[in-house]
Amino acid sequence: LSDKFQNIFKNLRSKGRLTEEDVKVALKEVKMALLEADVSFKVVKKFINAVTERAVGSDVMNSLTPGQMVIKIVNEEMTNLMGSETTEIKLKPSNEITVIMMAGLQGAGKTTTVAKLAGKFKQKGYKPLLVACDIYRPAAIDQLTINAEKQDVPVFSMGTDNKPKDIAKAAMSHAAKNDNNVVIIDTAGRLHIDEEMMDELIGIKEAVEVDQTILVVDAMTGQDAVNVASNFNDKVGIDGVILTKLDGDTRGGAALSIKAVTDKPILYVGMGEKLSDLEQFYPDRMASRILGMGDVLTLIEKAEASFDLEKSKDLEAKMKKADFGFDDYLEYMQQINNMGGIAEMLKLMPGNMNISEDQLPDEKKLKRVEAIIYSMTPEERSKPALLNPSRKNRIAKGAGVDIAEVNRLVKQFEQARKMMKQMPGLMGGGKKKRRGF
Ligand code: GDP
Ligand code: MG
Repeated sequence: LSDKFQNIFKNLRSKGRLTEEDVKVALKEVKMALLEADVSFKVVKKFINAVTERAVGSDVMNSLTPGQMVIKIVNEEMTNLMGSETTEIKLKPSNEITVIMMAGLQGAGKTTTVAKLAGKFKQKGYKPLLVACDIYRPAAIDQLTINAEKQDVPVFSMGTDNKPKDIAKAAMSHAAKNDNNVVIIDTAGRLHIDEEMMDELIGIKEAVEVDQTILVVDAMTGQDAVNVASNFNDKVGIDGVILTKLDGDTRGGAALSIKAVTDKPILYVGMGEKLSDLEQFYPDRMASRILGMGDVLTLIEKAEASFDLEKSKDLEAKMKKADFGFDDYLEYMQQINNMGGIAEMLKLMPGNMNISEDQLPDEKKLKRVEAIIYSMTPEERSKPALLNPSRKNRIAKGAGVDIAEVNRLVKQFEQARKMMKQMPGLMGGGKKKRRGF
């Protein structure tokens, strides 16, 4: 799916001006890609309508970067589709007991997720109690117990001879006695949706006051996950969804429809089998991931926010004229440092920008670079060619570093100068920067 989006977007970006027809063709391709990825027709239609309405207006067509604008709109609407904002699991104040019931098909990841959640709540200072209500498989109780031990949280179990609703009831008094303030009920799943499973969940809800019913669905099952969510929501009523196994090669097609179909938010995503592999769900990040854009949009925004446009235009002009000296290099390092975490972000970018770690400064490294450059004479700074071994030696002494480090800096400076010439778009201001990708 991401590959397809990448292609569609590449075409859009390569055009200077866009006609309404260009946009329509691109959106048709987006539509096909989503349908092929098993996103439900109703959702796709709604989505495409929303994007079209915004994208074919004259504002977009006449903008300097229509291709980018369309991509941005697709990204934003996709974010909206998934609920725009991160939803937290609502917990009552710690002097009351919050009851959370987990539901889902067999193998979806309920038992694992119960333990993962317990860890999150514990971090927040709550005292969770896990309740073993899967009475059909003795191994299920063992599995819960083993995971609970790893998280150092208690399990309440009454073996396999009691009804789930009675176990849940007994667990409540146990929690009250032991000062547990979050009760998480692990339930049994079936391979397919059936009445008995639903009745059991409804029974638990009748026996104890469940505050949050959380459905666990396996992202790898694609559109089935959405059907399951819809079914559970109709029959039992759910408050939110946890999407597991997103660490597989699924690109999150299921994530797209769940909110639109059930109107219930995705709360967390499971990113692996380890108990720490549970992440809060960010609709905007998921959209970027589905679009195969890494965190490119964040990068654009961050770069815009922290780049001093005038300064970078100046720098760019200098680099073109090749009188880029050490003072400019230092300024460039400082700007990049201001952008913060850029190394991480560049790694997320599609198309593999080949920037070596060396060229990306951290605070400490920047201080040393400053020391070396400040030990040069103004003349040396503007004419790097002057730097012969004896001058380098003097500079090293002045900065209190090894001569090897001066050499390394000179080399990096040369590399940066070369790199800048190759892709002025990255450093360029305004329009240029956007056209860079
Ligand atoms: P349950 O039947 O719903 O209780 O499912 P389990 O919690 O027993 O999980 C079924 C299998 O899925 C186990 O092997 C888990 O380790 C695995 N699993 C659960 N969540 C994730 C996840 O987010 N990523 C991956 N890769 N595996 C998961
Ligand atoms: Mg289980």
